[in-house]
Amino acid sequence: TLLAGGEWRGELINQRKDGALFWESAAIAPVRDAGGITRHYVAVKEDITQRKQLEASLRQEENLMRSLLASMGEGVYGVNREGLCTFINPTALKMLGYSEASNFIGHNPHELIHYQRADGSPYPSAQCQICGVYLQGQTVSRDDERFFRADGASFPVEYRAHPLIDGDQVVGAVVTFSDITQRRHAELSLLHAKQAAEAASRAKSEFLAIMSHEVRTPLNAILGMAEVLAESELNEEQRLGVRVLRRAGNGLLSLITDILDLVAVESGRCTLEFRHIVLTELARETLAIHAFAAERKGVRLESYIDATLPERIGGDPKRLRQVLFNLVGNAVKFTGHGMVRLEINRLDSETIRFSVHDTGIGINKEQQASIFDPFFKIDASNTRQYGGTGLGLAICRKLVEIMEGHIHVESQEGKGSHFHLDLPLRRVEKPTHDALVFNSLPEVPTPKGPRGKCAILVADDAEDNRVLIRAFLKKLPCRLAMAHDGAEAVKLFTSRTFDLVLMDIQMPIMDGLQATTAIRSWEKESGHGRTPILALTAHAMPADKEKSHAAGCDEHLIKPITKSDLLSALARHAISFEEPT
Ligand code: ADP
Repeated sequence: TLLAGGEWRGELINQRKDGALFWESAAIAPVRDAGGITRHYVAVKEDITQRKQLEASLRQEENLMRSLLASMGEGVYGVNREGLCTFINPTALKMLGYSEASNFIGHNPHELIHYQRADGSPYPSAQCQICGVYLQGQTVSRDDERFFRADGASFPVEYRAHPLIDGDQVVGAVVTFSDITQRRHAELSLLHAKQAAEAASRAKSEFLAIMSHEVRTPLNAILGMAEVLAESELNEEQRLGVRVLRRAGNGLLSLITDILDLVAVESGRCTLEFRHIVLTELARETLAIHAFAAERKGVRLESYIDATLPERIGGDPKRLRQVLFNLVGNAVKFTGHGMVRLEINRLDSETIRFSVHDTGIGINKEQQASIFDPFFKIDASNTRQYGGTGLGLAICRKLVEIMEGHIHVESQEGKGSHFHLDLPLRRVEKPTHDALVFNSLPEVPTPKGPRGKCAILVADDAEDNRVLIRAFLKKLPCRLAMAHDGAEAVKLFTSRTFDLVLMDIQMPIMDGLQATTAIRSWEKESGHGRTPILALTAHAMPADKEKSHAAGCDEHLIKPITKSDLLSALARHAISFEEPT
């Protein structure tokens, strides 16, 4: 250019004398004489190394930003205050089904991708929250809307929109979003799985309730008749046979009771009561129940209560007693000689520790790990020797969890075991009057004493059970009327006078609940007094008890029932007999 007589300007890399390179901008122009001949050149040069470096680092930053936006898993786009798109990253383009950024940039994203609500109704931009971001400057995030693709298909979206601020001016908004179809699928399948598990658990509970009912009904007849037999004249061999029959029957009964209990606790149907628990009473009662078994084996029973503990604590006395009863029962069962000791200590200011120590057969380390699992028994011969279902400790652990406590065992084989039960220490105010903590029985009317023949209506569809009640009450001064179903029971009840009704629940034609309701309304309409109705049923779930009370029963007796339980129930309703000698 210079040789041709023109000017040159440009930027070039030059080298200093010391060899260092630098950027230079130069303008070189020829200086001509009057004849137009180039005499020399004038050059204006400037060192622009700094500017060049700044430009390079800006370029680098821009590239970084671009590749950052491009590699983001989330879609990102920006809008200006007019609501028009100013930039969009490749992920967003792909998610929205656009091949070129130019199809999006300069357009209104609301009109393109956000024009309908999730329910299919139109979504005017005046109500759009993203539009609010660049107009009012607040931030929004949502996960309950949909974005629409170029092909018209849509997907559930989670987005966040932040205002873009320049100085103190909102100049637009930047929206980041992701397609949450998979998350929604996962949530849905989780929900279905949960519903299926709940249905299965319900089915399991129902199945067990039915099973338990079906087993309890014949067991009532078996155990009851065995009791009647045991009271009759028997030779030695027959007596032994009856004893085996009763032991096996009772074993079966405790298995069913334990299974139902475990299911109730596991399914969360077990609610806790909060009452005063007098610690000395608790210890005394727990040991008293096992005193006979311990004495027979020559095992000493001891108890100790830390004197710094309050006299009474708050908690569920029935459930706590159930756990301690089990632990002490096991300790006595698995101890040949020595002692079983119940200790109540303060572990720290917040925790109370109940410990059951024994000097029995002990449990090795490996067995300790599974001892609280359902149906765990150390070996089958154990069970033959000691009896038990292997459910006791599993129920204890569940109950303790519900009580927000912790149970664990320390033991040495051949030396003995220590079961520790740690519970939150709940303090209670001392009541002004001394409440009888464990007396949970309803108030008992004073028995009227021996009286003339009393009339009892027995409603039960199973002949075996009717025979059993007759056998239980055979020698007593009462008249029994038998009904085979609820309808017959109502008919009999309304035609004669009875002192008490024993009502089975599950019966054909009319069940015991309906019959009881019918009897109660007849009593009301005809102005008769209220006759005690005792449900006597194999329905053993807590909810069953509530149902029979709601129908108007005064008590809910569970089959199998022993003769003495039946007699005490009758006594509670003012019917007492002198046992004939
Ligand atoms: P079970 O009704 O069979 O006693 P548990 O769940 O209460 O069921 O106990 C499970 C098993 O743990 C028992 O069969 C026994 O082998 C062992 N076990 C429980 N307590 C003790 C103890 N104090 N000493 C030794 N073994 C015990």
